[in-house]
Amino acid sequence: DPLGPTVCVGEILVEIVATTVGDGFLKAQPLVGPFASGAPAIFISQCGRLGGKAAMVGAVGDDDFGRVNTDRLKRDGVDVSTISIDPDYPTGSAFVRYRKDGSRDFVYNIATSAAARFGWSQAVGDLINRSGHLHVMGSALSVPSAREVIDKAVDIVKARGGTLSVDPNIRKELKLDEDTERRFSKLVAAADLLLPSGEELERAAGVEGEAEAIRRLFEVGVKEIVLKRGAEGATYFGRGGDRIDAPAFVVQEVDPTGAGDCFGGAYLTCRRLGMSPQQALTYASAAGARNVTVLGPMEGAGTQQELDAFIASTERHP
Ligand code: ATP
Ligand code: MG
Repeated sequence: DPLGPTVCVGEILVEIVATTVGDGFLKAQPLVGPFASGAPAIFISQCGRLGGKAAMVGAVGDDDFGRVNTDRLKRDGVDVSTISIDPDYPTGSAFVRYRKDGSRDFVYNIATSAAARFGWSQAVGDLINRSGHLHVMGSALSVPSAREVIDKAVDIVKARGGTLSVDPNIRKELKLDEDTERRFSKLVAAADLLLPSGEELERAAGVEGEAEAIRRLFEVGVKEIVLKRGAEGATYFGRGGDRIDAPAFVVQEVDPTGAGDCFGGAYLTCRRLGMSPQQALTYASAAGARNVTVLGPMEGAGTQQELDAFIASTERHP
């Protein structure tokens, strides 16, 4: 790509998963991990695996949890030179246990970990000045260090003719403070591609109703919207009023974490590689579905070859 790599800015974590279903961590129990994780890291891993030029901005600690992440992303073909190594703080982590009803208990260490301690630097500036696309997670706006990098990066990437994708990733009930809400709205309006999931669509639009939300988002300037609906599939909406529904692939769900991020990373990468929305939707749906069949947030992210094999061998929901 003449315009340069896709860049993702945000938290890098390890995830450690309880192997039994139940409530929380009050008793000693079997765990599995560490797995490389963090929504932005999952997204960029899928970009790299699909053969898109990709780079990550964030931070890890000087520890094995950090190396799990940087080694993994390097193997995926992601440029990790702008992942800084914090000498004082450990790599971010999340312990996760699924409850019977599918909801989850978490023990997080993110806000006081290396994950939240990075900022603008010479190296980050050099990367952004040669990048062609920026991907932002709405949730990153609550992290002051990420916010500073994102603010600057959006302006630079847009000014040089690059594009922006946004996964709003903000729960419908979540009230942001006035300043963060304003930043969020500005980011949404600047998105060339918006990747909401379920009710995040209405949250991002600030209005009720799917059709009304889509109309409003195009009105404020969004160029392309892909709505994720889990096992119900996904829908592409174009500015011209065109719509493509993509049924989900039929899979055995082992670990739902990361589906949306793999889906988004695959969709964006396919579009940047010149594919049509239809073709990108097929790869994205395959990437999301394949990822839920494997334990670990990004362990099921596929290469183009793996996704082609998956598509050829997997049924779709009617
Ligand atoms: P998360 O935030 O948990 O990573 P998300 O809510 O952003 O996920 P989802 O809608 O859960 O995103 O998943 C994205 C896409 O992945 C779906 O639109 C679908 O194509 C595929 N997918 C997810 N879960 C399944 C599943 N159980 N079976 C088949 N496909 C799935
Ligand atoms: Mg999501």
